[in-house]
Amino acid sequence: MDADKELIATLVGRIMEEITAQQSAGGQQSAAGQQHAGSSELGIFESMDDAVAAAEVAQRQYLECKLEARRRYVEAIREVSSRPEHLEYMARCTVEETGMGNVEHKIIKNRYAAEGTPGVEDLVTDAWSGDDGLTTVEYSAYGVIGAITPTTNPTETVICNSIGMLAAGNSVVFSPHPRAKKITLWLVQEINKALAKEGAPANLVVTVREPSIENTNAMMAHPGVRMLVATGGPGIVKAVMSTGKKAIGAGAGNPPVLVDATADIEKAAQDIVDGASFDNNLPCTAEKEVIACDAIADLLRFEMTKCGAHEITDAAQLKALEDLVLKEGGSGPRTEWVGKDAAVLLEAIGVTPRPGTRLIIAEVDKDHPFVQHELMMPILGIVRVPDVDTGIELAIELEHGNRHTAIMHSRDVTKLTKMGRLIQTTIFVKNGPSFAGLGIGGEGFSTFTIAGPTGEGLTSARSFARRRRCVLVGELNVR
Ligand code: NAD
Repeated sequence: MDADKELIATLVGRIMEEITAQQSAGGQQSAAGQQHAGSSELGIFESMDDAVAAAEVAQRQYLECKLEARRRYVEAIREVSSRPEHLEYMARCTVEETGMGNVEHKIIKNRYAAEGTPGVEDLVTDAWSGDDGLTTVEYSAYGVIGAITPTTNPTETVICNSIGMLAAGNSVVFSPHPRAKKITLWLVQEINKALAKEGAPANLVVTVREPSIENTNAMMAHPGVRMLVATGGPGIVKAVMSTGKKAIGAGAGNPPVLVDATADIEKAAQDIVDGASFDNNLPCTAEKEVIACDAIADLLRFEMTKCGAHEITDAAQLKALEDLVLKEGGSGPRTEWVGKDAAVLLEAIGVTPRPGTRLIIAEVDKDHPFVQHELMMPILGIVRVPDVDTGIELAIELEHGNRHTAIMHSRDVTKLTKMGRLIQTTIFVKNGPSFAGLGIGGEGFSTFTIAGPTGEGLTSARSFARRRRCVLVGELNVR
């Protein structure tokens, strides 16, 4: 009987929490616009104006919250995003909705986003004290941030941006890619429910019911949005940088991986196949072309075929693959084949893949579209070079000045240093798969917004904050 009472008390407590959450969300409705009633709709607005207005109200309330509260809210986002059933759901729904990627790999990516994104601890205060008193410089909120998210990492980006942006005291309006609308709206609602349970101000994380380019443009132009963060291709990065607002642009890459004659070839082959096939090559950081020194090129190709790569050597098959996945004239990838399984691509050109095939490789010249373009497919062009110095020059050329990511396999510290210095990428991974640069099997925190063009690099809470100086004259120096 006592057990029954306890159960009922727990259930009543939960229902009361839900009701309080709904009421608190409802309280914002009149001020902020027409949010639909019911906890399943939290954070979703009919118009961009309403979404921004709600986020503005939320951010003003958030200013009153203590850091301890922010920490709890960040923990709530981590918890709701990393529940095993939610990880599974997000991964499956994303693959289903976008038609791209790999469920198991998306589970890993989302888990790292939830667990590895820095929180409030990222905001370290600088202080100066002396005869003239005490001065601090603290990381402080921007206000409402407009965040534009890609199809390739839709939920990962929402998780890591929500954590970083809320940790820094902001609210956020998401403008997701229309092709990832369903899963993004689901996640925004789950985050809102989790935040409401912690008693957070309603609408710290919001979006619109119908994401579109028009809504993204409305968000970028809205005076209530103080900062823009674009995670996507060159078009949207340029768009946010042209607004006149503070903008963070996390754009495209074309990461080269260079292998020299001193490398552990067996390991390099394994790492490259693992990195380039991760989520079917969707990550902007994934190996997009291989540059192999002549002395080891054949061995590398052979080793890669031993760990899941299918090599195309037949000219007719190569042509069939080009015709399938490239636009007319080879000017870039056809969207419908982006993020597909290697086996699906092979079957589409009439090749039966061996079980376990994860990647397609082909030796080509440096001007081949498989090398020049960011395909985001598990296809790697391999270019042979006479020596490592030529390889470094070619890697710089193929990176196209994106300053995004590069990878090198070598035991020659001098050449590793030379490559790192000259290529100037935000991420430079040495002797590992590309995803080590995201903190997956490499040291360092996780993020899925890597801002090469605007220079923040791997973004975290401090990237979404303003530096503000606070000066007390003459006192509080106790030295
Ligand atoms: P995309 O550029 O097509 O779309 C990204 C977002 O921008 C979407 O929400 C889309 O709706 C919006 N958008 C695009 N063009 C727009 C316009 N003209 N006006 C208004 N909104 C616009 O990119 P995608 O296919 O979703 O993602 C893949 C691209 O993003 C790749 O180039 C990849 O390298 C890059 N990316 C970069 C990072 C990074 O951290 N640097 C992370 C993920 C993806």
